[in-house]
Amino acid sequence: MKIDVLTLFPEMFDALNASLAGKAREKGLYSLNCHNIRDYSADKHKKCDDTPFGGGAGMVMTPQPIHDCIAAVDPEHKSLRIFMSPRGRVLNQSLVKELSEKDNLLILCGHYEGVDQRVLDMDIDMELSIGDYVLSGGEIPAMALIDSVLRYVPDVLGNCESTVDESFSQPLLEYPQYTRPQNFLGVEVPEVLISGHHANIKKWRHEKSLEITRKNRPDLLEDK
Ligand code: SAH
Repeated sequence: MKIDVLTLFPEMFDALNASLAGKAREKGLYSLNCHNIRDYSADKHKKCDDTPFGGGAGMVMTPQPIHDCIAAVDPEHKSLRIFMSPRGRVLNQSLVKELSEKDNLLILCGHYEGVDQRVLDMDIDMELSIGDYVLSGGEIPAMALIDSVLRYVPDVLGNCESTVDESFSQPLLEYPQYTRPQNFLGVEVPEVLISGHHANIKKWRHEKSLEITRKNRPDLLEDK
């Protein structure tokens, strides 16, 4: 998988050098290229934002640098071009899985009050939100998207089972997990988990999943 990110703050993506995304990149399982939108500004001061027509607070990102950056990075429109936006379709696990099957993703990060609508209409395929709250820029949402998508890219996760049982992979949230020590500050691991009885363990985990889903996210059960 090849991912291109268009941003005014490419240094923020250094965070993806660590952990899962960093290891995946080292192993050559995906490539990430961050492009600084400012480098494409035709303005002599490399300006990339201006005040909104019609008035209102804040600044809006101008269309020219974004349009030229997209044209340079994806001239043949081979990538699915995504704009991170609180206005977009809300990301969920089934969409993450769908996106992980694409070979090329281009992700545009907005900043300030947003982006001139014309360049979105001209160049963007879909708008994606990471939830019903507003961040100051699209960089953290883009990193959330990249991290979640990479977990489905073959060989990125050590154990290929790991996405199967997880929260949202089924309609239920994940059951509680325990590891060593068996007794931590006087609290024992649930006995069923050390019984070695696989059918009982499976049943216990399913019951716990149901209980947690009912408590925290009853809407997931209603959807079903
Ligand atoms: N005025 C805009 C918000 C701008 S926030 C509005 O009311 O819709 C600045 C940028 O941060 C956005 O252009 C977008 O790229 C990013 N952003 C903020 N919240 C986001 C979210 N929940 N999901 C995805 N991107 C988000």
